[in-house]
Amino acid sequence: QPIDGHVIAANRRAAQIADRPLEAFSDARLLNVLPNFAINGVWQRCLDVAASRSPVEYITRYQHRSQGERWYEVAIAPLGDGFMLTYSDITERRQAEETALRQQREHAEANAALKAEIVRRQALEVELQRLATCDPLTGALNRRAITERLQKALLAAERYGHALTVATFDLDHFKAINDTFGHAAGDAVLKACAALVTHGLREDVDIFGRLGGEEFVAVLPQTDLTAAAAVAERLRRLVTECEVPIEGHVVRFSASFGLAAWDGRETMDRLLSRSDTALYRAKSAGRNVVCVDEGTGEWIVARVPGTEAPPLAAEPSPF
Ligand code: GH3
Ligand code: MG
Ligand code: MG
Repeated sequence: QPIDGHVIAANRRAAQIADRPLEAFSDARLLNVLPNFAINGVWQRCLDVAASRSPVEYITRYQHRSQGERWYEVAIAPLGDGFMLTYSDITERRQAEETALRQQREHAEANAALKAEIVRRQALEVELQRLATCDPLTGALNRRAITERLQKALLAAERYGHALTVATFDLDHFKAINDTFGHAAGDAVLKACAALVTHGLREDVDIFGRLGGEEFVAVLPQTDLTAAAAVAERLRRLVTECEVPIEGHVVRFSASFGLAAWDGRETMDRLLSRSDTALYRAKSAGRNVVCVDEGTGEWIVARVPGTEAPPLAAEPSPF
């Protein structure tokens, strides 16, 4: 087992890397000049290479007294009955690699943050859109959104020659519910009514919203007056069947409906105003009815026979 080696030649750079004067290498014992080799395993590697006659390469780091931390690519190659040890300083390359890696990581982090921000903004946009188009109490469309969508629906009806009917409705004696049970109870009734009617309409086809107060509107595209009257009658009944539990009571209510079908020419405002007038007629006719504007100056009040009006909140109540 060789216990040391004899240095045959070392260049200036080797001396620099070893932090020794070049003279220290001339005619020297290797482990005398570089005693660390015995400790850090380099000597053993050199012996292995000399014995196996196959070269090895590896990367190592060295903390210099004078030059700070440096990285080296070490190659040990068999040479004669010994070996040649080559140290290539790869510190700059490693630093560049590390910088590139760090930048890559930073870019990835920035990218992830950007993506999260985009997702957050998209959610915010959706929320803003919801706030801009929905009535906060009932979640139904607000007046602005309804008129916007009704305009579009009218354009589509014109283009395809489809029918379109508007049904406006208003809760009957709603003030009495507020007066009897309080404003919060009135709110609960409005919510229940909106939810009920939403489910009673065609999703993605019909347009439903709250015009304000306790007045709502349902726009029924591709629906003529006769079909719409049947829909309104179904909704009217649904409303009368609704029961809202409030403070141990069950509050029931009704609504009056006014219908007008688009005549193919009129403006949206005129159409809405005609359905509103029909609604007034329904109120005068005793409430809890569907009134249809025939478009001929005639209004037809329809209450399906056999349907009883529920006890109205304004009347002495059974609550
Ligand atoms: P009619 O049968 O003629 O429609 O009578 P009404 O009592 O329903 O109508 P009126 O216009 O006299 O009263 C409507 C009430 O609705 C008055 C108003 O304070 C109340 N109201 C409007 N908006 C809201 C709301 O958001 N929440 C509650 N709880 N009440 C509301
Ligand atoms: Mg009312
Ligand atoms: Mg009203």
